[in-house]
Amino acid sequence: MFNTSDRVTRAMTNNGAFRVITALTTQTVRGAVLAQQARGAIARRLGELMTGSILVREAMAPDKRVQILVKARDGRTSLVADAHPDGRNRGIVSPGLDERVAMVNNATLEVIYTLPNGIMHQGVVTLPDGGDISAGLMTYMHESEQIVSMIAVATVLDSDSDTGSSGRVGAFPVEDALTGGIRAAGGYMVQLIPGADRDTVAEMTARLEAADQLANTLVAADMSTTRLRCQLLGDMGVEDMTETLLRFGCNCDRERVLAGLSSLPRTEIEAMIAAGAPLDICCDACQRGYVIVVDELRSLLVGGSGSGLQN
Ligand SMILES: [Zn+2]
Repeated sequence: MFNTSDRVTRAMTNNGAFRVITALTTQTVRGAVLAQQARGAIARRLGELMTGSILVREAMAPDKRVQILVKARDGRTSLVADAHPDGRNRGIVSPGLDERVAMVNNATLEVIYTLPNGIMHQGVVTLPDGGDISAGLMTYMHESEQIVSMIAVATVLDSDSDTGSSGRVGAFPVEDALTGGIRAAGGYMVQLIPGADRDTVAEMTARLEAADQLANTLVAADMSTTRLRCQLLGDMGVEDMTETLLRFGCNCDRERVLAGLSSLPRTEIEAMIAAGAPLDICCDACQRGYVIVVDELRSLLVGGSGSGLQN
């Protein structure tokens, strides 16, 4: 089932000063980018956001689902990353999203998950101009979670090294059919644990600045989360390590599709029933198709319910 080398690991340094989360997400991002037919700057951002949602989930809510939304200045959602505790991840690019407007100034980054007490946590920060996801995630962790963190997420595109092919439109060329044009994706989060001594923090800061070439690191052929962590930490040892395998995967099913339909106005459902034809619905995230027959539409008029998270 998990035909992937993608994984996220979480560990504490032996000196108790840092919690370190490292993620390799290449296959996972490829799956989402292919399903969304995203490319160029949008594919890069979607990948970064997906890696970010995995890091935030590991840091704040390892056994919960975490969603991160990027909303454009007009308040419309443009990108969604959705990380599940079982390792499934998906991403959605809003239809019609244009590279030129995808990350305009004043976009916001919104993190949503359920707290242990069942209450929905929702934190919103403004992305810096240009829409740097790593910077936005660090601001979020600091302002909304009050945790000082160094975060870097990166998506490396095939077109990053060979110029001239990044602006193409239309169907993916054959060589992109399996990769979506994604060479590598991943990232890390290093959290400062309160009380760490000043020298240790200074050493880590210098080390992270030196390692500030995540993209180069990720494309190394033998890259692993362990190796990425070693590059970040040097000879600083770790303990209490956990690891979760990651993959692209959707949680859609017939019930969810029907639940989505049931939130439509009653008159709209009645009109569909009157039309008499089955409904062909495609999942926004994975493009799986569902055929909803008229009898199922009728059953929606009997009861209905809403849900907090986006389907
Ligand atoms: Zn789906």
